[in-house]
Amino acid sequence: MKPESPHSPILGIDLGTTNSLVGVVDSGFPILLADENGSRSTPSAVCYADDGSVSVGAAALCQRAHHPRRTITSVKRLIGRRGGESGWQPHYNLQELGVGPIEVSAEILRHLKSVAGRALEQPVSRAVITVPAFFNDAQRAATKKAGELAGLTVERILSEPTAAALAYGLDKLDEHQKVAVYDLGGGTFDISVLEMRDGVFQVLATAGDTQLGGDDLDRALAHLIAQKLHQPEGDIRFLEAAEAIKKHLSAEETATFESISIDRSDLEKLARPWLDRTRQHCLRALSDAKVKASDLDEVILVGGSTRMPLVRQFVAELFGKEPNTSQNPDEAIALGATIQAGILAGSLRQVLLLDVTPLSLGIETFGGLMNIIIPRNTTIPAKAGEMFTNAVANQDSMLIRILQGERELAKDNWELGRIEVPFPAGPKGSARVGVQFSLDADGILHVLARDTATNTDTTLEIRGTAIDVADERVEQMIAESVEFAFDDMNERVWTEAKLKAEELLPAVEAALTQLGDAITAEEAQNVRQHADEVRQLLDSPEHDAKALKTATQHLDDATQTLAVLLLDRAMEESLARRGIL
Ligand code: ADP
Ligand code: MG
Repeated sequence: MKPESPHSPILGIDLGTTNSLVGVVDSGFPILLADENGSRSTPSAVCYADDGSVSVGAAALCQRAHHPRRTITSVKRLIGRRGGESGWQPHYNLQELGVGPIEVSAEILRHLKSVAGRALEQPVSRAVITVPAFFNDAQRAATKKAGELAGLTVERILSEPTAAALAYGLDKLDEHQKVAVYDLGGGTFDISVLEMRDGVFQVLATAGDTQLGGDDLDRALAHLIAQKLHQPEGDIRFLEAAEAIKKHLSAEETATFESISIDRSDLEKLARPWLDRTRQHCLRALSDAKVKASDLDEVILVGGSTRMPLVRQFVAELFGKEPNTSQNPDEAIALGATIQAGILAGSLRQVLLLDVTPLSLGIETFGGLMNIIIPRNTTIPAKAGEMFTNAVANQDSMLIRILQGERELAKDNWELGRIEVPFPAGPKGSARVGVQFSLDADGILHVLARDTATNTDTTLEIRGTAIDVADERVEQMIAESVEFAFDDMNERVWTEAKLKAEELLPAVEAALTQLGDAITAEEAQNVRQHADEVRQLLDSPEHDAKALKTATQHLDDATQTLAVLLLDRAMEESLARRGIL
């Protein structure tokens, strides 16, 4: 092998749930690289044998029937999540093997690196790696870490739909088009709406489900096979047969296995509800992008599962046009990653990729509310900031909780990290802390908090912390944000009303003590009554925001005389002190 040259090539890698591919730009053309068996696609499988040896790809899959608990597949479904939180139960237990999703992904990447090194006859160490557009910060950071563990410098984390659009649109750089990329793979579903114009690829909106793919259909079909054979399910053999039969039925009307036969219509009966789950995501992406289906120039299909005739039919019905199948569904993303790698390496013409952030980023504000700093679907890289102050007197620091999510209340969103910002103690509202969020091109967040009085900066890069985040499903978060929008709104109004009431009550008490003798007994009684009403509403478990707002307003009105008196008295005192009265 030759030593690495200063202008070393950059690899494009599709690190898929099911299959992974690697490519490079050679003499101006993106090409995918084959392993020693001539295969350009490596199953994303890793087998940890008893003797400590590790095999990857087809070699690992061969072991699956004998060592199901030692053969890891679909690890992408676990990356950047804490154990047990993904809602998906694998047939293996990573803890038993003493590895984590990042290490397993690193094995796959190390294998792809060696496939490339062998094909190019030179060591390579730089790469662009794709992830689903829906991957959150933690998942992107975990993927990047896997690359680093495999000895790769990860030059860019690229969203898969952007990669697919690049593969589709590289020869259409002068056109102006709006396209949707419908990607149904083995483990994830992604739908994105992009605009391409003057060599700029902009993601307008993205949606999807990180737990929806061909795997689910394989399991449903394996269940059917076991039933038809009157045998207990759970046999890995049935799962393997199911996948083979499913693929066979994309081209043929019927398939046989042992003593049974399965028709395409049997499969389609199972596939209908599964496919229907993609519908809401498509509609959401269109609505977020403010694009009608009829405005789309193309709907591009990628992902192995889109080879199914039923998927094509479903997409045609949903979008009202025949989908575009010009791209090889298994290779489009790797090809796009390779093109991006070529652009970064300077071997291809520059195009501009504008990706978006899939979830809103913000911080918790006083009262436990979510304050959004960078809204969902903002083009990245992005930078935004806001000024905050202390809510309580004599505070000498502020805890900033960094949140990601779509819910109104801080506690319903995910905490990505927290930083403590020190500042000189002073009265309420005296501190000035600027908080700036910057999302880099990889979708990784950098937070800067500055105490403007002392010009002291506190910074935090989320990537490390984010991996430990209690990470539920991103798409569930978005679904819930709609589902709970009404409740959330009420909670927000309640919290705001509560803050106001809690500020007003002690002020009223103080004024009554100070000036009780200056107002009539009826007036004082009236004020007390209104204050009691406010207190009762505050204590009631019902959280009736509207009632609290009204009661607080009444209390405010009832204390008008007091307020005027208070002002007069303050004025008198001040004048007296200065010897004027
Ligand atoms: P991923 O992005 O998750 O790695 P791929 O895009 O490689 O996935 O797609 C893999 C999925 O596509 C698997 O579930 C596989 O069974 C399915 N698949 C591949 N070829 C076909 C086919 N001809 N018909 C139906 N499904 C297919
Ligand atoms: Mg894929």
